[in-house]
Amino acid sequence: MENLIDRIIIEAGAEELSLTKRIVGRLADLPVEILKDPESLLRELRREEDPLGAGKKILLLSFFPGEFVKKCPGTQGFICCNYTVLNAATGCPLDCTYCILQLYLQNNPILRVFVNTGEIFARLESLFAVHPGGTFRIGTGELTDSLALDPVTRFSRDLVPFFAKQKNALLELKTKTDRVENLLDLPHQGRTVVGWSVNPERVIAAEERGAASLADRLRAAKRCRGVGYKIAFHFDPMILGEGWEGEYAGVVEAIFEAVPPEGIAWISLGGLRFPPALKEIMRERFPASSIVAGEFVPCPDGKMRYLRSIRVPAYRKMVEWIRSFGPEVPVYLCMESREVWERVFRKVPSGIENLAGIF
Ligand code: SF4
Repeated sequence: MENLIDRIIIEAGAEELSLTKRIVGRLADLPVEILKDPESLLRELRREEDPLGAGKKILLLSFFPGEFVKKCPGTQGFICCNYTVLNAATGCPLDCTYCILQLYLQNNPILRVFVNTGEIFARLESLFAVHPGGTFRIGTGELTDSLALDPVTRFSRDLVPFFAKQKNALLELKTKTDRVENLLDLPHQGRTVVGWSVNPERVIAAEERGAASLADRLRAAKRCRGVGYKIAFHFDPMILGEGWEGEYAGVVEAIFEAVPPEGIAWISLGGLRFPPALKEIMRERFPASSIVAGEFVPCPDGKMRYLRSIRVPAYRKMVEWIRSFGPEVPVYLCMESREVWERVFRKVPSGIENLAGIF
């Protein structure tokens, strides 16, 4: 993957930071320039035929301008799983057809890694100190894939030992890659969960460009389990085309073949959802994607989803298949309404705190 990046740009003042030096050293063949005029860089990108694709080839090493850590925004009226997001990078070198970043980062699609990591750790420490009795579940995979750039940044080698020392926080690294090499010899103390988004091989081949195959993801999961990490799986987004049952039942079986139930921290389920504006971008960039032709309905949070009469039976079947292999494994729905939770599980967590309790 690293050789798909063809240019490094450094924000002035960040040249001497240790993460900058590490990344530049690992991509020693690439041209490096200092960022002079951000606007002209973006203008240059906009002239490309596919600015979003072109942005994935430029790696900008910069300072983070705002708050690194924020509560996962969830979605209005839908149950939230109480996640805190750590934004240490934005943009992703992979190129999934349904990726929401195509919309969020439309005006600035360059890969960015924030290299002022000292501030990231200081901010996390002060956050954890405020609620010593709480449990923070922190993810780095909201605006990027947690491990896609890890062979270059090796940031996991800072993050995992940092979390190993925490008493009230858990890190989840969520990925569609098999880039776990940096994790295998780290002292994690059970404070890092390595999570994989999974889909049937056919869906991966059609919709998840640049991502590892399911078989490779599961091999990587097995390696991480072998050195004691807890593993998470996210059936998210589920793409419910014709014949989905056989394919997804096969994936459920495959994940339990790779990792025994006691090694699984949690499994989430989430049907494909997207803001309406994303469809136009998908149509333009991936006209052959089956998602473009799919039928979706607007939901109260403004996102398009499969009809509830399709989602609910699909989730129920998934829960049944998962329970047949791992009756005790925590399963939750991602960004679904109270009604859907009730219909799938016949009960609903009484509040966010209780849902957090399943972790
Ligand atoms: S792996 Fe995630 S962040 Fe990367 S392109 Fe796919 S959906 Fe987007």
